[in-house]
Amino acid sequence: MNKSPNILQTPIDYLKGVGPNRADLLRKELGIHTYQDLINLFPNRYIDKTRYYKINELQRNSADVQLVGKIVHLKTVEQKRGKRLVATFTDDTGSMELVWFRGHKWIKESIKINQPYVVFGRTNWYNGVYSMPHPEMELLEEHKKNMRITMQPVYPSTEKLNNKGITNRVVNKLMQQLFIETRGRFQETLSNKILNELNLISKNEALFNIHFPKDQELLAKAKFRLKFEELFYIQLQLISKNIVRKQKIKGLTFDQVGTFFTDFYNNHLPFDLTGAQKRVIKEIRNDLGSGAQMNRLLQGDVGSGKTMVALMSMLLAIDNGCQTCLIAPTEILAQQHYNGLLELVKDLNININILTGSSKTSERKIIHEALENGTLNILIGTHAILEDKVIFNNLGLAIIDEQHRFGVAQRAKMWHKNSVPPHILVMTATPIPRTLAMSLYGDLDVSVIDELPPGRKPVKTVHRYDSNRLKVFKFLKDEIEKGRQIYIVYPLIQESEKLDYKDLMDGFESVAREFPLPDYQISIVHGKMKPADKDYEMERFVKGETQIMVATTVIEVGVNVPNVSVMIIESAERFGLSQLHQLRGRVGRGAEQSYCILMTSHKLSNDSKTRLETMVNSNDGFEIAEVDLKLRGPGDIMGTQQSGILNLKIADIVKDNDILKTARYYAMNVLKNDTNLSKEENAIIRYTYAQLAKHKNIWNYIS
Ligand code: ADP
Ligand code: MG
Repeated sequence: MNKSPNILQTPIDYLKGVGPNRADLLRKELGIHTYQDLINLFPNRYIDKTRYYKINELQRNSADVQLVGKIVHLKTVEQKRGKRLVATFTDDTGSMELVWFRGHKWIKESIKINQPYVVFGRTNWYNGVYSMPHPEMELLEEHKKNMRITMQPVYPSTEKLNNKGITNRVVNKLMQQLFIETRGRFQETLSNKILNELNLISKNEALFNIHFPKDQELLAKAKFRLKFEELFYIQLQLISKNIVRKQKIKGLTFDQVGTFFTDFYNNHLPFDLTGAQKRVIKEIRNDLGSGAQMNRLLQGDVGSGKTMVALMSMLLAIDNGCQTCLIAPTEILAQQHYNGLLELVKDLNININILTGSSKTSERKIIHEALENGTLNILIGTHAILEDKVIFNNLGLAIIDEQHRFGVAQRAKMWHKNSVPPHILVMTATPIPRTLAMSLYGDLDVSVIDELPPGRKPVKTVHRYDSNRLKVFKFLKDEIEKGRQIYIVYPLIQESEKLDYKDLMDGFESVAREFPLPDYQISIVHGKMKPADKDYEMERFVKGETQIMVATTVIEVGVNVPNVSVMIIESAERFGLSQLHQLRGRVGRGAEQSYCILMTSHKLSNDSKTRLETMVNSNDGFEIAEVDLKLRGPGDIMGTQQSGILNLKIADIVKDNDILKTARYYAMNVLKNDTNLSKEENAIIRYTYAQLAKHKNIWNYIS
């Protein structure tokens, strides 16, 4: 029996063998404050000590190995930075060195020359000699007597911990001590029903075997059970948040499909909607009419027609007497949305305007007034809309385009723009792999446009080396001859901004030499230009007055010039996959065959090669996103802002995809049948969930 049910909340200082100094280090280096934290320090890997290596089997890359042999010689070597104790260790296949930098006296006294030892440690190879610093060692005789741990866990550590003597061995000892003090008995955290249905081992068995695996099979079962549990409780939290929001946060009810929507649909729709667009509009309509506040993520590959979905949703809001806004990440995009929507609604009696950082004071005044008295129906703009001084009369729906540039905080800001929180629709063209979406946006509802408008020809993507540039230029000339236009994009990475601008300007000059005036006109757009100059250059390109647009990634999102048939991406190896895919999405918007040419030098890392191959072989944003996730890991993909959310203790969102799906399925089922977790069969789940919420430090992945 436990000393108390809450023994796991005991501060780590009290564990025998810890003490104030070690407690301090454990807290600072590993975030371990309590017994609970320690037990949730799961090994990164296990060393299989069932195997004994021979010296002639060693490999040059360092590895943890176990060897049997004798020490035949011991000497002290003087070095500039202190002494080194070196033992010559041999077996019947060769010899190597064991090395100590500290504790010489004790080792010299205790080592028995010419007696068989079992040594264990990490080998290094230098100048033809293998060495093993600070090996664990044991006389073979002893080893035979107390051989027990075969799978030795290796715990996460830091250099500081190691230097201060909290080695893996010490952590191991502490873990043993923890099992002694708690008698290895822990609260079960999953219901019998789940344990039985999934044939999971108990919490006690799982924790024991994750730290002291009896064999491979039990270790696998322990891992599965603990991963499942971790993912299950994340999903439970996300799904129940969503349910609670729907129950508690009353939203505006848009139950009318009125004249704006109907008139537009019947008389002004410039094309037939795709099946996917229709389905998504229906999903949104259901949300808007449900009485609960909508929080929906709309995912759709570049060019899939999200703007039309946005417009039709806005018309629904206007039909129900509300104002709406659409927020884009850049001025160029906001302007483009404005122009496009203005054209689409020109025959409807709708008041639409645009607000950005560069709106003039006089314009602002008009907008503010029309917003507050309710005569402005649609406001398009940038972050400027978020400012506190922008006050709506009755904002009913806020749409955020290209979500990845928006933080969660900004999304929340929109909530407060109306007395009843407006419906929120977040649109993104960066396909988020389903696995990740489930974990990050489990509290949002997700719609997917998985169909492109008809007649689109997939973009042909090729990879070309800089040395083939002349051929590429020739190809461009042919395309321009046919009346097409071209983007040439240069990387812009913050850290090396100066160099990047130099690359851009050098590139511009060489393009200008190759495509001279007056036959060719070239536009250039980059972040250091004044907005007015940018607009002017964009404008010329959109109108077809220039054939080539040289730019940094400012054109990455949203820009729509259907006549462009070639996208050249310079130094393509420096871009991430999702960015490459975004950029490629700028072409293939017209009826003509389009091309994306990825230019690189010959020097490519393996990851770069994988990225380029993926782009050449796939046009599917979701497929590309999955590769991206595998290459970069979830933290990088979502940016630093959100990476903390995925601070998982044992599960891996990429590798444990199947477990995640199972966990989500079970979490949904539990909540579907017992939303408040009040049924007896879910008592354990309710208790665990409450504990998790209370001790945030246990699983701190939930924001
Ligand atoms: P994105 O999803 O990338 O924002 P857009 O909304 O900009 O895509 O749409 C891309 C292009 O496809 C636009 O020119 C738009 O007018 C056109 N489009 C959208 N839906 C359809 C459709 N159902 N049929 C034909 N063209 C469409
Ligand atoms: Mg768009």
